[in-house]
Amino acid sequence: MDTVTATRRFFLKQLASLGAMLTVTIPVKNALAVETKTALTSVRISQSNVDHTRVVFDLSGAAEHSLFSLESPDRVVIDLKGVRKSAALVSDENQTTLLQGIRSAVRENDDLRIVLDLNAKVRPRSFILQPDNELGYRLVVDMHGTKLSPTPIKTSQQERRKKKKEFVIAIDPGHGGKDPGAVGRKGTKEKDITLAVAKKLKQLINRTSGYKAVLTRDSDRFVVLRHRVEKARKHQADLFVSIHADAFKSPKVEGASVYALSLNGATSEAARWIAHKENSSDLIGGISLDDKDDLIASVLLDLSQTATIQDSLELGSDVLRHLGKVGKLNKSSVQQAGFAVLKAPDMPSILIETAFISNPREERRLKSPKHQQKIAKAILSGIKNHMKNQLV
Ligand SMILES: [Zn+2]
Repeated sequence: MDTVTATRRFFLKQLASLGAMLTVTIPVKNALAVETKTALTSVRISQSNVDHTRVVFDLSGAAEHSLFSLESPDRVVIDLKGVRKSAALVSDENQTTLLQGIRSAVRENDDLRIVLDLNAKVRPRSFILQPDNELGYRLVVDMHGTKLSPTPIKTSQQERRKKKKEFVIAIDPGHGGKDPGAVGRKGTKEKDITLAVAKKLKQLINRTSGYKAVLTRDSDRFVVLRHRVEKARKHQADLFVSIHADAFKSPKVEGASVYALSLNGATSEAARWIAHKENSSDLIGGISLDDKDDLIASVLLDLSQTATIQDSLELGSDVLRHLGKVGKLNKSSVQQAGFAVLKAPDMPSILIETAFISNPREERRLKSPKHQQKIAKAILSGIKNHMKNQLV
């Protein structure tokens, strides 16, 4: 044994004993880690009709999830990343017409796997709700039976669509007239950008067979929010897409974001929120309303009352994904309100902040007709994508 080997052995021995010491401390560390993990605290189940079951998982913090379906027997599997369970999942109350029961198991990688045993094949959809004043993070899983009725989802919309054959998209160019919206450093007005993008989008939509676009304003004029939504309704719009450009104190802030809200029954509270918007940074899913003008605040609030979370979120994420291909994203997921209770589908609505007009680079791009066309194309691609998934 030469000196080098001896020295190496010595170090290996030291390392081994260090390893032994580490082994002792690992369980403690793990115990601490477990404490900081997101917990599944309760499960709530509701059935709006024989064909629809909703399962809401209350979580102590944010969590990533994935979901897939399996057949014979029919079941839906949900994997919650790094989530521990502190709620009993098996109970007789867990049963609905579609749902037979709920099982769960901790997987090797520390994820929690939840299995929903079903009585029929379902079409599952899931989304995470941000915390609000009353409730924390929630994972919502909606299941619609596929056997019991061939077209269980969005029956009202589909019926309407069948009758009129065309799919109507209301495009709402933000601001206008006496309300310029945000103004860029070079003097670019948001109201002009939103109208330009909206007109391009309208043209693209009208060139698509089966689609029809309606503008809530087609010139530089002031239109109150209520009339914008009324116009969309009058034309029996299937979607409402409000186009804006963002602004912030710092010129560095950049990227697009999409808002989809559903504040069902918030009518009386809407006024209060707008009045207190200076203190309301947490009210709308962490979106600070004090950076936005009253009009946007009210657009957000009003839209939210008519939208369904599910549709709006799905539409929003499709649009966001396509916007990410033509520019930067400010937020990589659709922003949303937390205090949402779903309502019957009416008019899924999203509000798109195309980019930051307060960012000199983005202001330049927003002014370019070529880039405006790219944004319009991205929005249409997102809408088409969403529609494709709806009709499957
Ligand atoms: Zn705006």
